[in-house]
Amino acid sequence: STDGKVALVTGANKGIGHAIAGGLAARGMTVLLAARNPELGEKAAAAMRDTGHDVRFVRLDVTDDASVRDAAGAVAAAPGRLDVLVNNAGISGGPRDLPSDADLDRVRRLFDTNLFGVMRVTNALLPLLRRSPAARIVNVSSGTGSLAHMTDPDHYFWNLGAAAAYPVSKTALNMLTVQYAKQLRDTGILVNAVAPGACATDFALEHIRAGRTITRTPEEGAAIAIRMATLPADGPTGGFFDDDGPVPW
Ligand code: NDP
Repeated sequence: STDGKVALVTGANKGIGHAIAGGLAARGMTVLLAARNPELGEKAAAAMRDTGHDVRFVRLDVTDDASVRDAAGAVAAAPGRLDVLVNNAGISGGPRDLPSDADLDRVRRLFDTNLFGVMRVTNALLPLLRRSPAARIVNVSSGTGSLAHMTDPDHYFWNLGAAAAYPVSKTALNMLTVQYAKQLRDTGILVNAVAPGACATDFALEHIRAGRTITRTPEEGAAIAIRMATLPADGPTGGFFDDDGPVPW
């Protein structure tokens, strides 16, 4: 049952994270809608409360140690429990992110959000998650992080431009997911990565402007994250999933 459970979703003021937060709230969870921008976060949380759900804003910038520490402290104070963590916040490398042109400061900033941000947030919230009887951690990755798909001529190899930062960060996030699952395998905490599929969010705007057609909604992208956030006790851990099942690494 999801009743009484508490979920925190990072980057939940808009896009796929917003849809994940809404979906978990609709399933009866108390949702901590985390966002780095207080105005946007408060507004999104208030709109969900207006539809009758228990949704509370938490300020959290995944790249900022102090912000993450404060957020963990706030959650420990109230509601004082955490059952689900969805590491959703992420940034795009943009349509021109060629390895040969890599601006290392930019690559570092992207990794700080997409990879180190997940470690920062997960480690700050693990003490609370360990106290949950059935905690779930979901890392929102990407199909572009799949080495199998990226090297497959019928999949991304010829169809998607080369990129230095974004897919590399998601491949690393997949491995990090496996390592957390290994460490936590005897705790009952299930840790999985998900690929939401290309969705029409602000994240994808640059690609849409560059001519790609993307029609999938954030709600469709959120579905696999919601499924992994609400796994039964005998569910998988250390896996990578999309709507069709396991994604090859
Ligand atoms: P959006 O750009 O719509 O939303 C991204 C969210 O992350 C925003 O709430 C943004 O906040 C937040 N965010 C960015 N940086 C930080 C930070 N430092 N601290 C806290 N929050 C931050 O993107 P999507 O909803 O599309 O993407 C969500 C996830 O899904 C990402 O991890 C992305 O890589 C992944 N994904 C998306 C796909 C797509 O096609 N859309 C495909 C595959 C994966 P703010 O509003 O303040 O910028």
